[in-house]
Amino acid sequence: MSNLRKKIAISLEKEMPPVEEYKAKPGTEIYGSLVFNDGAQKQYLSKDVYKKLRATTLRGEALDPSIADQVAQGMKEWALSHGVTHYTHWFIPLTGLGAEKHDSFLDPTAEGGTVAEFDGKTLIKGEPDASSFPSGGTRSTFEARGYTAWDPTSSAFIQEGINGATLTIPTAFVSYTGEALDFKTPLLRSVEALSVQSLRLLKLFGNKTAKHVFTNMGPEQEYFLIDRQYFELRPDLIAGGRTLFGAPPYRGQELEDHYFGAIKERILAFMMDLDRELWRLGIPSKTRHNEVAPAQFEMAPIFEKSSIAADHNMIVMELMRKIAIRHGLVCLLHEKPFAGINGNGKHNNWSMSTNENENLLEPGKTPHENAQFLAVLVAIIAAVDKYAELLRIGISGPGNDHRLGANEAPPAIISIFLGDQLQDVIDQLEKGKPSSSKSGGVMELGVSTLPPLPRDATDRNRTSPFAFTGNKFEFRAVGSTAAIYWPNTILNTIVAESIDRIATELEGAKGDFNSALATVLQKEIKEHKRVLFNGNGYGAEWHAEAAKRGLPNLKTTIEALHAMKKKEYKQLFEKYKVLNEKEYDAREEIMWERYVKVTNIEANATVDIARNQILPAVIGYQSKLANTIGLTAAVLKSGQKGQNDLLANVAKGASDLFEAIEALDELIDKANEGSSLHQIAASLKDSVIPQMLKVRELADWLEGYVDDEAWPLPKYREMLFQY
Ligand code: ADP
Ligand code: MG
Repeated sequence: MSNLRKKIAISLEKEMPPVEEYKAKPGTEIYGSLVFNDGAQKQYLSKDVYKKLRATTLRGEALDPSIADQVAQGMKEWALSHGVTHYTHWFIPLTGLGAEKHDSFLDPTAEGGTVAEFDGKTLIKGEPDASSFPSGGTRSTFEARGYTAWDPTSSAFIQEGINGATLTIPTAFVSYTGEALDFKTPLLRSVEALSVQSLRLLKLFGNKTAKHVFTNMGPEQEYFLIDRQYFELRPDLIAGGRTLFGAPPYRGQELEDHYFGAIKERILAFMMDLDRELWRLGIPSKTRHNEVAPAQFEMAPIFEKSSIAADHNMIVMELMRKIAIRHGLVCLLHEKPFAGINGNGKHNNWSMSTNENENLLEPGKTPHENAQFLAVLVAIIAAVDKYAELLRIGISGPGNDHRLGANEAPPAIISIFLGDQLQDVIDQLEKGKPSSSKSGGVMELGVSTLPPLPRDATDRNRTSPFAFTGNKFEFRAVGSTAAIYWPNTILNTIVAESIDRIATELEGAKGDFNSALATVLQKEIKEHKRVLFNGNGYGAEWHAEAAKRGLPNLKTTIEALHAMKKKEYKQLFEKYKVLNEKEYDAREEIMWERYVKVTNIEANATVDIARNQILPAVIGYQSKLANTIGLTAAVLKSGQKGQNDLLANVAKGASDLFEAIEALDELIDKANEGSSLHQIAASLKDSVIPQMLKVRELADWLEGYVDDEAWPLPKYREMLFQY
């Protein structure tokens, strides 16, 4: 083993994979070349069909089914010109990972040859067997069959492989009875719900021309890269994407030298390849940099409409994994791959805008725009307060449990950061007193009952889970592996409810609109201002303060999932037709299942690695020590007991470790005897996870004593610092 580790160190002098001539072909030339985008559509579709398709993709109008055959034909020809042989309906089942089944275009002819076939029916609808996807215990009522339905708002694209290419058609995945079996369908429904309510509000402010309100998303994706050869020697990373063992390295992130540091050559080569591949797919990759932890990085795209941004983020994660391998690296997207240093998040930048490109979260230049902005802002504040638990549910999962509440990620308490200036505006609005301040950067609302609005209210606070950053909100507590459809579905739905309530009150108000508006906003602020917090979200004082304010603090996934049972939450999704009861229950069930499965995998991996790799290494070293001491006993003077102490330490460690492993093994069995998922999950959390930590603690302690040559697992100091 030791020799192998040495070999790895040498092999780190990697040859770079052959890359294309980057300078010869600028990004502008390749951008979107693998997407059936506007340019390709123009070229391969008749003018009439092109126009109709654009109406759907751009303006959200219903698809005219009569054009399907012609779109399919054009898409096929375009794909064939790129050497494509297969097509697939791509969807996001409730595993949260992309799913695809490939079919070739080829159809045999009577003459013994083949032709490439692809018609409208095949484009619009696919029928993968749904029975092996999680359905949340509702399978008996769902037919096993599932249908994939083409989502024309997200462009088809080509996945290139080493030996060919596949036309990939983004789809929604539904059951025979029409229930959503995927993450995308509810997201699309939630955008629709938010649009309907927002248009009512906009109308009250005199906007009669907007036809749709969309949500925008810019997900910043964090990740780690380690050398693949280390990865292959870590069964824990292979099984679950996070290290279950590993003593803290003597150098971690304390020097604060990695964040925005110069990017190492091998990493930059990866990033460049990633950017190129993303650009080819029309994914607007924009920013790349080193993150806080050693070996940690981030990419951020330019924001897009939510459903497209969510699709693109799935592709980003997939490509990161794939391209890393080409560079002899492995990409770790888990929320907490390494204990003791930062984990990975996915900052979910979110805003709402009309089809006329008006960002509803832009404070605006005129008094009238400002008032509208404040109405939207207050609606969001109210939504986040009223449904904080739902937002927390949307980001829960076994991975994020290691991150939320640690001193690197926002706490599990959902609160909003507005910044001092905007907070001041809200405070004034609550009191209902117009401000006399008219200095420099202050905009007058021109409405006597509304306070002036600062032009730039974008100070920063990294510790807030939900922060206003200028013209968008940044939902920072989302986990790095998350399929972001789900948290955004929740966000859109709760804001739809808020805007609905406010619009209803305003529509019913008599008399002067501005004073009615002030009254409604005041009421909302009074009721929901407890969710506003501009201080340090990492501090212990905040936990006490939040408890005093009565804000929910669902510390773990299990607590969050219990809250998910509440009737009012289910009703909310039903009311806005985002999820019916069955669909909601299915998601809850699947989250419980996932928690139990992931924890079991990690617990069993802990037993296996400790028992079969670590313990034998420790015992081997112990035996070496014992032998040496036996052989040298004659020359040891009395009082020279260090060697005996070392042996005694190692022997005790081995003994304790063995006992801890056996205890863990038993606790896992016992936990899984529980009579329900909830009970099993509770035992896993309360007895198994703490015992896993005990095993780890002993093993990590032994790592510090046992001969480095004999240690079976690549160490943190190796994985995090050597490329
Ligand atoms: P930060 O300082 O937080 O990194 P950036 O300006 O780099 O801010 O933006 C981060 C992400 O937010 C990017 O993906 C960006 O495209 C996205 N973003 C910017 N404006 C909006 C908006 N109005 N709505 C949604 N996302 C946005
Ligand atoms: Mg950011």
